[in-house]
Amino acid sequence: MGSAVAGGWELPDSAGDSPAPVVRGGDKAADRPYLLERVGEAAVVQLYADGFESLPLDQRILVYHLYRAALAGRDIFFDQRYVHNLEMREVLEQILTHADDVDPDTRAKIERYTKLFWINTGPYNNLTARKFVLTCTGEAFLAAAQAAVDGGARFPTRHGETLDVMLTRMLPLFLDPSVDPSVTTKTPGLEEDLLMASANNLYVDVTMDDLESFTEQYALNSRLVKLGDHVVEEVYKLDGKYGEHISRIIKHLEAAIPYATESMAKALKALIRFYRTGEDADRKAYDIAWVQDDASPIDTINGFIEVYMDARGTKGAWEALVYYVNQEKTAEIQVLADNAQWFEDRMPWDPKYRKKGVRGITANAIDVVIETGESGPVTPIGINLPNDQSVREEHGSKSVSLSNVVETYEHATPSGFRTEFSWTPAEATRAERWSRTAGELTTNMHEVIGHASGRLADHLNGNPQAALKEQYSALEESRADLVALYFLPDPQLAEFGLVPVEHHNEIVLAGYEGYARNAITQLRRVRKGTQLEEDHMRNRQMIVRWLMDNTTAIEERVHNSKTFYVITDVTVFQQGVGELLAEVQRVKSKGDYEAAKWLFETYGIHFDADLRDQVVERVDALNLPSYSGFVQPKLDVERDADNTIIDVTISYPQDLMTQMLEYSGNAVGMVRPRGLH
Ligand SMILES: [Zn+2]
Repeated sequence: MGSAVAGGWELPDSAGDSPAPVVRGGDKAADRPYLLERVGEAAVVQLYADGFESLPLDQRILVYHLYRAALAGRDIFFDQRYVHNLEMREVLEQILTHADDVDPDTRAKIERYTKLFWINTGPYNNLTARKFVLTCTGEAFLAAAQAAVDGGARFPTRHGETLDVMLTRMLPLFLDPSVDPSVTTKTPGLEEDLLMASANNLYVDVTMDDLESFTEQYALNSRLVKLGDHVVEEVYKLDGKYGEHISRIIKHLEAAIPYATESMAKALKALIRFYRTGEDADRKAYDIAWVQDDASPIDTINGFIEVYMDARGTKGAWEALVYYVNQEKTAEIQVLADNAQWFEDRMPWDPKYRKKGVRGITANAIDVVIETGESGPVTPIGINLPNDQSVREEHGSKSVSLSNVVETYEHATPSGFRTEFSWTPAEATRAERWSRTAGELTTNMHEVIGHASGRLADHLNGNPQAALKEQYSALEESRADLVALYFLPDPQLAEFGLVPVEHHNEIVLAGYEGYARNAITQLRRVRKGTQLEEDHMRNRQMIVRWLMDNTTAIEERVHNSKTFYVITDVTVFQQGVGELLAEVQRVKSKGDYEAAKWLFETYGIHFDADLRDQVVERVDALNLPSYSGFVQPKLDVERDADNTIIDVTISYPQDLMTQMLEYSGNAVGMVRPRGLH
């Protein structure tokens, strides 16, 4: 369920063995590069938006204007994340674009650092929040800058400052890990202040104590600055902080309105109004208008949205996404939702726990055209907004799953990851060919018919959490997974058009094999201790270990000191799943805490440290990335003599540096549109 409950983001499994979609357009996908390069622990990957070309022209023009609005705000997030970010970026880009006479070794180090800087929007790792540094010496960096100046670079020196003074001032920002060590510190040391220990630019010299006697008017969209002994609120709005960027965003949003549906135009107008006034009432009006626009084929998220970067969890980081609905994949989700009752009537549990009038939980599958600010180059895979709880309760929310992002993760995963843990080459081939199909189908069933299913005993008053306490979430995730695994082999899926009938058996086997393998490979993420904490991980281990203990469906085999989980019989697997599902549903419906606890204590929580060590060793040898930075598609327009847009085309740069330099106006041979802000 994840984000569907709390709102906000759902993040990908870092190695890419996450739920994955069917990829259509066969040859196209096979021949083109997804993984572009590795930079340290990061992968650089290309995002493709195949459906864009077949959108009608007015929708493509709409996307284009929203795309420009997304780029217009990009530097807001750079500045929010670190007050020195834009200046640092300019120095790095000036060196890299005038590097002919820079020492090659230094240049390589600066290039590597700059790529990580772009991917993470500054010098802080997006997973750990810790600072990373340039690995050359200060002398080498100064020499590189001088060589760049000799080659024509123009550095953003402040008024009256020489280049030497500027670089000397900035050196610790690049080289010293102890200067501003963390962008967000949610659990600071004993004597430390939450806000002072966080290097982001959402607060300037403000402590938590300062805020005790201060009431914010613009909680989500302001920077708080300590001036003398009082706190000043700098509001993000047209005539306030980031006004210059916001005015460009507004200009592009206004250009988009004539091409939008009526309900989307209403939402865009509400967004513009909020950007103008900054008032919370206007933010709320926009949230409502955005949620109510639930049928438009194109959509955008643009503004101060998520609060993860703020240690207080209050200030919104700027982000933008532009996307269109993937009609084909959304239709598959809809088929499941439309037939939710068919599945419910066949759930392998006590009929008294079957629901009457069940409704599937739906989300739109979307393809992203651009993501900037906090959502790019590092992107979520699922989004559920708005975050305002009062709007969610009264007006609902919108969920999207980012199909082309998930597709990219799947394609960029090194095949060695599957081969290493497959018992036979046939299993690895099957995984290569069908794990995407099986993964997408089981993910959809998990969400749409899994979580939506089942009836509770009356005495629980619709609140099983209260009875099942800390076991609830893992139990509920198990239940949804088991529903998906149980129906995966059902011939009715082919009747519904969800699987090609001639490959159904292979898809089932690939799905079951992948599920069993995951119980081993997921151990790589818990490098210390012998206990799983995360609920999805507990659920997946519980199911596999229960099947191993109670059926003959999965066999543990060892070859050359390597452990494998091997599926012996698909039918036995499905029967076992049905049996366990009946028990899990009983436990949930009755709120049987002791039984839930026993299941997870016995099968779901504890693991063997030796097996984990073995898995870690095998995975490390494969050199998997920890996270990925996405190179976005690029849009271009063609205009007629009257300057009217007559076509919008999409292309794929397949190069991080090219795209980043272009975004900031530093591409070689480019006329710079503006200076630093
Ligand atoms: Zn779930």
